Amino acid sequence: MRTFDYARAQTPGQAVSSHAASGQPFYLAGGTTLLDLVKLDVMQPDRLVDINHLTLKHIEPLADGRVRIGALVSNTELANHPLIRERYTVLSQAILAGASTQLRNKATTGGNVMQRVRCNYFRDGVSPCNKRQPGSGCAAIGGHNRSVHAVLGTSEHCIATHPSDMCVAMAAIGAQVTVQGQSGVREIAFSDFHMLPGQTPWVEHALQPHELITHVTLDAPLANSRSAYLKLRDRESYQFALASSAVIVVMDGQRITDARIALGGVATKPWRVLEAERALVGQRVDISLFNQVGERAMQGARAYEHNAFKISLGQQVVTRNLRDLTA
Ligand code: SF4
Repeated sequence: MRTFDYARAQTPGQAVSSHAASGQPFYLAGGTTLLDLVKLDVMQPDRLVDINHLTLKHIEPLADGRVRIGALVSNTELANHPLIRERYTVLSQAILAGASTQLRNKATTGGNVMQRVRCNYFRDGVSPCNKRQPGSGCAAIGGHNRSVHAVLGTSEHCIATHPSDMCVAMAAIGAQVTVQGQSGVREIAFSDFHMLPGQTPWVEHALQPHELITHVTLDAPLANSRSAYLKLRDRESYQFALASSAVIVVMDGQRITDARIALGGVATKPWRVLEAERALVGQRVDISLFNQVGERAMQGARAYEHNAFKISLGQQVVTRNLRDLTA
């Protein structure tokens, strides 16, 4: 068994400075990803900084219509908060579609944004995996790559999907991630937070060393919008998405006047599809239009040996969501 130091932080500043002497920071919140991966020996912290005592557990409406969420707000609290249920239905639905009740009670907003891939080769601790061991290769390319492997945003170095449902809804809504570093606080646009694997799949997000997520601030909801999250998976609970869509639309009678669409389960990061959104705006509700928008959403997809079905599933999860939301 490996040993590690344990420290408890009382403020974000204390949390980020308590790592000054060590390398990679490991912050313990709900622990639903971190503790699993420590037990599997995939993550090997020298020091764990427990951030559960920080005062980051509030959901606050801001004067400009946005909503600020503390990084330690649990997934259950966020999904069930009246403000989120009423104004961000897609986010509430996405969170409740993820994991299990027990996990949602423990998992936090910041931790969900930071969760690691579910690729079995990453988690088995022995297979070649560029995320776990840079430069070792990717066992999933040429291996088993059906359910948690992507068809969008992949590279020759990694094809794992981003596993979060919550982040797909946030990508559609638009958000800012506030982070505390050793020299102050800064904001990162949600769309820039998660990185494509490219040549460096071990770089998963835009955080600098030691930085800690303190808040996620959702953009103000589109006026008079309706929204929904649709998740297709191998079984109806406690399962990752094969394909999912977060859709927000504003309608004037039968005409769509604004739209936001993001995909999950098919891409290496939460996948906003701006071109597909543009194809909807100004158009009348029509199933053939929704089919075209679904196709456009999956433009550029590249299949691997076992996951070609995800290209049509991704199209369908957009088409069906649009059809039901505009009915
Ligand atoms: Fe590792 Fe990514 Fe390849 Fe999976 S898909 S084995 S996480 S490099």
